[in-house]
Amino acid sequence: MNNDQLWEATLAELELNLSGGNFKTWFGQTSILKNENRLIEIGFPTSYARDRVEQRHYHQVKKVLDRLTQKENELIFSVDTSPKLPEKPFGPLFEGGKESQKGVGLSLNYTFENFVIGNCNNLAHAVALAVAQKPGQAYNPVFFYSGVGLGKTHLLQAIGNDIIKKRRGLSVLYCTGESFTNELLDSIQSGSRKTTAKFRKKFRETDVLLIDDIQFIAGRETTQEEFFHTFNALFMEKKQIVLTSDKPPREISKLEDRLSSRFVGGMIADMQAPDLDVRIAILRNKAKNSKTKVPNEVIDTIAEGVETNIRELEGTFNQVLIYVKAQGLELTPETATKILGNSFKKRKVVATPRKILKTVGTYYTVKQKDLKGKRRTKEIVRPRQVAMYLLRNLTELPLTQIGDLLGGRDHTTVMHGVGKIEKLLEENLQIREQVSVVKGQICG
Ligand code: ADP
Ligand code: MG
Repeated sequence: MNNDQLWEATLAELELNLSGGNFKTWFGQTSILKNENRLIEIGFPTSYARDRVEQRHYHQVKKVLDRLTQKENELIFSVDTSPKLPEKPFGPLFEGGKESQKGVGLSLNYTFENFVIGNCNNLAHAVALAVAQKPGQAYNPVFFYSGVGLGKTHLLQAIGNDIIKKRRGLSVLYCTGESFTNELLDSIQSGSRKTTAKFRKKFRETDVLLIDDIQFIAGRETTQEEFFHTFNALFMEKKQIVLTSDKPPREISKLEDRLSSRFVGGMIADMQAPDLDVRIAILRNKAKNSKTKVPNEVIDTIAEGVETNIRELEGTFNQVLIYVKAQGLELTPETATKILGNSFKKRKVVATPRKILKTVGTYYTVKQKDLKGKRRTKEIVRPRQVAMYLLRNLTELPLTQIGDLLGGRDHTTVMHGVGKIEKLLEENLQIREQVSVVKGQICG
């Protein structure tokens, strides 16, 4: 395996295991710059992406690389100012982008052209197209909702990409509810009026505001207040607002009424799980972009095997291709079925936050009250950090919500706790065992 292939295989695995829809944002345009003497240097297009991945995923990246190389590596994360893209035999997953698009948080892979339409999503798609053609005039605000992995982020970013491509001059801003929250809190924490003013200007002076997973601001008073004013400022100026969420506005718990009533005042469209034909079309599209020839029967087998979620469908497809290539097998429906069987068993895990907290508490004999409480003795701090780590890795919850679950802690505290455990997992056998036992009990 050369470095490009190694990195490609690593990314394919990481995509399956990392939570959240932002995988492509953080790992897009990355590559292995150097790989010598068990030192692997990974290049990122921006320091922001580098820091983020280093803080959150060092351990996960290392684990995959170690296994694929059969070595104990040390990783260096650096910023690569002259990104050279690796070859991409598995489709347009990690394609590079123009500066303008990247600058506003968009990934170029999410376009209307590669969005497959079916009964499950045709209303949402039509609305998105209309919005891209007439921002601020067709429908405003627009609200898309669906379960995970059904194309909300793709469609939202397709709007942004299309507007940037065709209507030069209009400014587009994409961000998640989570980063809106975090940026706001950071700007408030900085205590400088200039920083808060900058935040406001950024969000209130864009022509098109795309906020992904808006449900994340629910339950947070300051963020909702700020978003309310952002919304009004943009709306009055007839600027386009598009939001996505996992539920319709009225069903998002702890979302203020004044917000949900504004959200329902515009166009709402849901997206459903794709039927077999759409799943096949999506995979054929992917296969067309890949260097490997994928027989139709293999595509059918995978499409029949993965029903509920497009992200999972794509992940399984990648996994099958990589596995077959690595093992030198022939790509047949039989091999695909075998791999499908394995990865399903491994990945059918439902971990509720409640279960995670309970299991951690029982394992370390720490009361729930103490896990969530203020005490900072070693006997409590470590289990609390393990809980943060597991909540971050076994659920899709954002840092802010994990902080809430643990007695209203700040997102930076959670980030620190998660990082601490990730570090210990590398150095400390005892912790590694503990975490693996607890994980086993949760997922078992
Ligand atoms: P969500 O935001 O709803 O969780 P995403 O937009 O992240 O889902 O979609 C998950 C994956 O599935 C992405 O890689 C996306 O490109 C792909 N996908 C979703 N819907 C479609 C579609 N209709 N056609 C092609 N690919 C799709
Ligand atoms: Mg998403």
